[in-house]
Amino acid sequence: MENKNCDYLIIGGGIVGLSIANQLLQRKITNKIIIIDKEAELGLHSSGRNSGVLHAGIYYEPGSLKAKVCVSGANRLKEWMSERGLKINKCGKLIIPQKKELDPQLDNLFNRGKKNGALIDFVNAKEIEKIVPEANITSGRGIWSPNTYVVNPLDVINQLKKELEEAGVKIVRNVKNWTFNRNLSSINLDQNIQINFGYVINSAGLYADQVAHKFDVGKDYKIIPFKGIYWKLRNNSPFKIDVNLYPVPDLNVPFLGVHFTPNALNNAVSIGPTAVPALGRENYNIFQNIQPINAIFDLSFLGQQYFLNKEGFRKYVHDQALQGFPLLFLKAAQELIPKIKYFHIEPSKKVGLRAQLFNLREKTIVKDFLCINGTQSTHIVNSISPAFTASFSFADFVIDNYILPNLIK
Ligand SMILES: Cc1cc2nc3c(=O)[nH]c(=O)nc-3n(C[C@H](O)[C@H](O)[C@H](O)COP(=O)(O)OP(=O)(O)OC[C@H]3O[C@@H](n4cnc5c(N)ncnc54)[C@H](O)[C@@H]3O)c2cc1C
Repeated sequence: MENKNCDYLIIGGGIVGLSIANQLLQRKITNKIIIIDKEAELGLHSSGRNSGVLHAGIYYEPGSLKAKVCVSGANRLKEWMSERGLKINKCGKLIIPQKKELDPQLDNLFNRGKKNGALIDFVNAKEIEKIVPEANITSGRGIWSPNTYVVNPLDVINQLKKELEEAGVKIVRNVKNWTFNRNLSSINLDQNIQINFGYVINSAGLYADQVAHKFDVGKDYKIIPFKGIYWKLRNNSPFKIDVNLYPVPDLNVPFLGVHFTPNALNNAVSIGPTAVPALGRENYNIFQNIQPINAIFDLSFLGQQYFLNKEGFRKYVHDQALQGFPLLFLKAAQELIPKIKYFHIEPSKKVGLRAQLFNLREKTIVKDFLCINGTQSTHIVNSISPAFTASFSFADFVIDNYILPNLIK
């Protein structure tokens, strides 16, 4: 048995795990860090499959953890990418009410955004028309966010990985199975390797709840996967959309609604992602990786949420849960661009799965980021959007508020 020692073992090499490693390193806390990931490559799940939108901090309840770290995280990531010459599409974002009765929600979003430090302004019908000529003008108002940018998420993951490895961080990939030896403060990998650690950080994304449960942490919580399907504008479509175009979201759920996003690297425009209940945590294609027992549990739990109408969950089901069906997807796109027809769009290969946490005891959806400490361990169990945007500041927050205070001196 080969023995490896580290101060920090990080389980999961997505943006959250890599950013925490990077901040531990930059702040000279330690460079004795080992990251393990179950995949042969990094970025195969949410961190490499997201929209790449660097959010401006508009949506989040003031005082929430998301609100605390989004604006500064976005600024830091933009600066870090610029210093390295990584491509950023500085396109901005327009939010419009897809129905006239949603207009008052703009005031709600505007107030939240301002409190969170987002750079935003109202725009009138003329200005909306100038930004996106074919946009649906329902109430004559929208919100313009000039510094919502778009990046290629894999650029960030690959660059972080490279810099961490150069600084001596070990990234062990293909770790399909590992067992936790509680008394020994170590784990055994299937490759006959034992890793002895001082502290564990669980940033396992879609599986963060299951990893936490192994440490007897967060037993009330379960991740339910929601599928983010994307379509794209066909090359020959007549629409010129070179900014992010978003609807007013249902703030009862942490999904932003189907939107248009210009690519960071080329002229493609993606539409989506949806947020439809998935049949498995890696159910990327229709029949791929279905987990029947889990799916039955998840769907019956979501069914209860529907019947109880917990936190207005029925509205989500009626508006968004079935957008996997092409005609309902098209309807959502038409609420933003009424002239768009089925032949203007085509399915995209891109699909992501949102690792959405629920509190099973309270029967609530967890909207904010959530971290829970265990013995010599911190578990990041809800790292949904905008965790990519916020990653650098979120990492510092986790280090300062969870990891360092929890170290046994
Ligand atoms: C469709 C979609 C669109 C999104 N759009 C945006 C956006 O535009 N902007 C934004 O800011 N955010 C966006 N997000 C959210 C963002 O992608 C996530 O918040 C972020 O990527 C979460 O990162 P993570 O490191 O926690 O998880 P992940 O990226 O899932 O990383 C977790 C890693 O852990 C590994 N792992 C899992 N289990 C184990 C195990 N048992 N042992 C070892 N390794 C394990 C996995 O292989 C994976 O590499 C989007 C998400 C989705 C799904």
